[in-house]
Amino acid sequence: MDYTIEGYNALVEKLLALSVAYYDNDAPLVSDFEYDRMNNELKRMEAEHPEWIRPDSPTQHVGGHVSEAFAPVSHEVPLESLQDVFSFEEVSAFVEKMDGALSQPHDYVTEPKIDGLSVAVEYRDGVFFRGATRGNGEVGEDVTENLRTVRSLPKKLKNAPRRIIVRGEVYMSHETFQTINARREIEGQPPLANPRNAAAGSLRQQDPTVCAQRMLDIICFNIQLAEGASYSTHYETLEALEAMGFPVVAHTLCKTPKECTDTITAIGEGREGYPFDIDGAVVKLNGLSQREMLGSTAKYPRWAVAYKYPPEKKPSRVVDILIQVGRTGVLTPKAVIEPIRLAGTTVTNATLHNQDFIENMGVNVGDTVLVQKAGEIIPEVLEVVKKESSGAFRFPDICPACGAPVVRDEDGAAIRCTGAECPAQRLRSIVHFASKDAMDIDGLGPAVVEALDKAGLIRTPAELYYLEVKSLVGPVDRMGKKSAEKLIANLEQSKQRGLARLLCAFGIRQVGSKAAKVLARHFSTLDELMAATEEQLTVIDDVGPITAKYLTDWFAADQSQDLIRRLREAGVSFESREEIADDRFAGKTFVLTGTLEHYTRAEAEEIIERFGGKASGSVSQKTSYVLAGANPGSKLTKAESLEVPILSEEDFEKMIQSKPPAKPEA
Ligand code: NAD
Repeated sequence: MDYTIEGYNALVEKLLALSVAYYDNDAPLVSDFEYDRMNNELKRMEAEHPEWIRPDSPTQHVGGHVSEAFAPVSHEVPLESLQDVFSFEEVSAFVEKMDGALSQPHDYVTEPKIDGLSVAVEYRDGVFFRGATRGNGEVGEDVTENLRTVRSLPKKLKNAPRRIIVRGEVYMSHETFQTINARREIEGQPPLANPRNAAAGSLRQQDPTVCAQRMLDIICFNIQLAEGASYSTHYETLEALEAMGFPVVAHTLCKTPKECTDTITAIGEGREGYPFDIDGAVVKLNGLSQREMLGSTAKYPRWAVAYKYPPEKKPSRVVDILIQVGRTGVLTPKAVIEPIRLAGTTVTNATLHNQDFIENMGVNVGDTVLVQKAGEIIPEVLEVVKKESSGAFRFPDICPACGAPVVRDEDGAAIRCTGAECPAQRLRSIVHFASKDAMDIDGLGPAVVEALDKAGLIRTPAELYYLEVKSLVGPVDRMGKKSAEKLIANLEQSKQRGLARLLCAFGIRQVGSKAAKVLARHFSTLDELMAATEEQLTVIDDVGPITAKYLTDWFAADQSQDLIRRLREAGVSFESREEIADDRFAGKTFVLTGTLEHYTRAEAEEIIERFGGKASGSVSQKTSYVLAGANPGSKLTKAESLEVPILSEEDFEKMIQSKPPAKPEA
């Protein structure tokens, strides 16, 4: 394969960024399947070019970081990762390798692999003492108080050794996940994406009462350390943990490769019966002294492998095909299917992407299709397995929500509604207006927007600012006096969010929160921006001619002028809150670690962005500076090893207070 070092570096950077989203922010950007695919490609590159391997490559260390929001806990016994395999041949090869390496008789234990968050919990004299996340494997985050709220974690043990550290996986059960999401929908909050990230996000909350509301559970699968007890096999430790009162992972003793793969198959077939998600099965050597002899690599033990199941796929019959109209008018087809259980949840519909997808596949109502959960999150139709209808579904020529003609985008597969008054677009654009990145109006999610619309109270986002408590209580479904008062107060507060958020809230094509910030840094008021010509807009960095045209067209439309007038009359601020600064940090990436004396982390990041720089979560060779406050974390050590310049708070202040660099004469 013709790999290049540039390609290698780009892939490392991409995987590192994805890991930050997954481990540190608990908000994955791609599916695990997609991440594993890229990670395997990286492994192939490194096998061919070991001389390229970077110390920060994701193959060289355990994934997570340690957030400075929690006290660090050094793990006495590291919390390692597991070597992944994707076929039964690889499982058999692992067992045969063990058989070759060990002269004594030995056997294996096969267990389901729970998809949650790894923790170590310590008990002293049988009483829960402390608990920490895996973190980077060596140092984790102290989440003791949050762990106390985990329902199934025993707080006192029966007949426990003097001191014991146990490893387990914290998870959110399917039932809890569904209950919480149903509640969030009523409250107008975005749903939690999947149980794994919901569990990880909940356990890393600063406030234990929030964690308690998330009703987490734990399953234990290893004794890390035991003082005052000795065991000779892994199987024995699991039985001992159970007797002490821990919920313990299901465990099957296996002697041959076939017994291991048969158990993996059985676990896979029984996947739906577990109350938690499983993403694989783990085969472990049973003898503890044999394990010790084999030891570990930098990242995982040599005595275990994790078999990862391929994403689950199931057939189902298409009972209907519905067309949804999005905020920007794009028509998205979805298949309503006979309910099936897929990767832990009941699936009743699956995306069909777009018109071209439908036509290429020739799918129609009545056909049986194969459905898969992309990234264990969004179900999608993969192919037709039994054709029982004639021809492909005919995409409508008119918008199903407003009847206006639809047109295909010149440069893509999207089909768009042309209706200026389309109710579906209208509702979605109001939901977007209120969303987190836009005006951030708490309590105004899709369900509430729909209820307000049903009561005939809002036709444009501006009308939100004319609502009164008395007009809400009664006419609006499920809206009591208290919620109405809260909503009005939140709306009032949102008036002062400033130009960047307002621009993002307008939902102008290509103007998301990043572009909106750039514009708000350039113009101090909305009126200044509206007066700018297409040419003037194109001069701004990051604003291309297409965005400039979308902006000027949007401002010229009568509907937009009306919206702006009503917002102005309601007292919504059009002023920029993004102080205009120079671009002294242009092209520079900063990573923050430790506690700063004069700024919160958000404030420091804001300053960096205001001077044209970027703030990032992880240190790499591309980092320009690491800004280190008191009690810096592992990022400082990493910066030192990569020779990234380290700034003290004082250095940083000098940089921001100094005169801006002189611009060359034009
Ligand atoms: P891993 O999750 O594949 O395996 C190790 C973990 O398995 C351990 O931390 C342990 O806690 C857990 N585990 C559960 N049941 C177990 C059992 N019975 N015995 C032993 N361990 C058990 O490895 P990893 O290094 O933590 O993370 C890699 C995973 O994270 C991959 O699946 C990858 O797809 C995913 N990931 C996804 C993204 C993304 O963007 N979607 C980014 C980074 C990582």
